[in-house]
Amino acid sequence: MIGIVGGGIAGLAAAYRLRKRGHDVRVFEASDSLGGLAATYETNGDDIERYYHHLSKSEETIVELADELGLGDDLEWRIGKNAYYVDGVVHPLDTAWQIAAYPHMSLYDKFRLGMLTLGIDVRGGIPDFDAYEELAEYEHTPIEDFVVEHTTRGVYDNFVDPLLDGKFGERKHDVSAAWFLGRVRFRGERDLLRGELLGYFDGGFAPLIDALIDAVGRENIQTGSRVTELDTEGDEVDTITVETADETEVHEVDSVVVAAMPNVLEDLTGFECEIDFQGAVCGLATMSESLMDTYWLNIAHDAPFGSLIEHTNFVPTERYGGDHLLYVASYVQGPHEDLWQLSDEEVEDVWFDEIEDMFPDFDRSAVEEFKVSRNPRAGPVYERGYLDLVVPYDLADDVAEGVYYAGMASEAQYPERSLNGGIVAGYEVADRIDKRLQ
Ligand SMILES: Cc1cc2nc3c(=O)[nH]c(=O)nc-3n(C[C@H](O)[C@H](O)[C@H](O)COP(=O)(O)OP(=O)(O)OC[C@H]3O[C@@H](n4cnc5c(N)ncnc54)[C@H](O)[C@@H]3O)c2cc1C
Repeated sequence: MIGIVGGGIAGLAAAYRLRKRGHDVRVFEASDSLGGLAATYETNGDDIERYYHHLSKSEETIVELADELGLGDDLEWRIGKNAYYVDGVVHPLDTAWQIAAYPHMSLYDKFRLGMLTLGIDVRGGIPDFDAYEELAEYEHTPIEDFVVEHTTRGVYDNFVDPLLDGKFGERKHDVSAAWFLGRVRFRGERDLLRGELLGYFDGGFAPLIDALIDAVGRENIQTGSRVTELDTEGDEVDTITVETADETEVHEVDSVVVAAMPNVLEDLTGFECEIDFQGAVCGLATMSESLMDTYWLNIAHDAPFGSLIEHTNFVPTERYGGDHLLYVASYVQGPHEDLWQLSDEEVEDVWFDEIEDMFPDFDRSAVEEFKVSRNPRAGPVYERGYLDLVVPYDLADDVAEGVYYAGMASEAQYPERSLNGGIVAGYEVADRIDKRLQ
């Protein structure tokens, strides 16, 4: 039997592919529900992710999986409107005209930023059209140095720096230009007349997770089952120990896939991963009225949250019984940050005080419910030299034969962690196990 530690998308994808190849698998999930970071809340209509989720056009494996599971027709590509809040004004940045009208960058800054996003290096006056193909070249370059050299100081100060503040806070200077370029490429397709195309399933991501669970077979999945030990015999994996509410189980295994955060891998095997993670505090407000016109609002000033994401400006309110759903989200760089220390009620107060300051017309009584989710490991800090730190899929040389890793510290989760990356990581280990067991 192949034991899979973790019932998030990566563990389920690994189990799915292994089952398809005829292997005996068992997924062990510590919590009572499956889906990991893609877990959902109930609403007055469709379930919604606890942390905002959408797909980018560059992500293909998840689309193929959805097709295989019969959900291909449910994937909708919608315009996810973007805006920037600067000095009390929401500046929409979707169409070419709106970008041209944005007052906080000069026309020349916008031209240089535009060229960079198209992958064109115009330095020296002769355009180089494939300038940024080799991301590894920028793996050790700080973003600020890169952006100032390849565009202008104005682009960095007025556009990139506030975005980095929101995403990486005090760690922003540690992140590599390779991540930045990869992220620009990752975001994918933009319609110059309408804005960015983002993917979302009719019904959200829960139907995809459910279909995956069905394809793996519910009988092959155990929730409420934390894997606490992994034992080897000689240099091969031998057993795993699983704690449930009632008992301790020991299972013999041919292979083990750790599809969880690298601290879980370290606890089970001693393998040390040097990647730092940032946490997230993410609130979901159910409101009787809309806050703004945009889906995704970046904020230029030092607000107690990084972005405001009004989901129902992306997916219609009718899907949620007419309610308006707003995510308020912030990354934290460690438990020392004030936000992490606050109770959920305090977070709500601090956040809505700020929202009232930013949107004086907003009536707080419109907020009918506010739920907060927190995770201390919501995403890696993609610091310089990151690719040297990723955890290999096959840990035969580092731990023991038959031990594999498909969690968020995998290469597939670079330059941005995603559901698609989780599926790719799951497939990568499944292919390696299949080859080994043949
Ligand atoms: C704020 C936020 C926004 C995001 N936005 C997007 C987005 O827009 N688009 C997108 O595609 N992705 C997005 N993501 C990323 C996406 O959610 C993750 O990349 C993906 O869900 C990771 O899946 P995973 O299976 O690797 O890990 P997880 O989802 O973390 O699953 C790991 C599972 O392992 C279980 N586990 C841990 N320890 C044990 C143990 N000892 N025994 C058994 N089980 C254990 C955990 O309970 C968990 O269920 C976002 C994530 C966050 C936090």
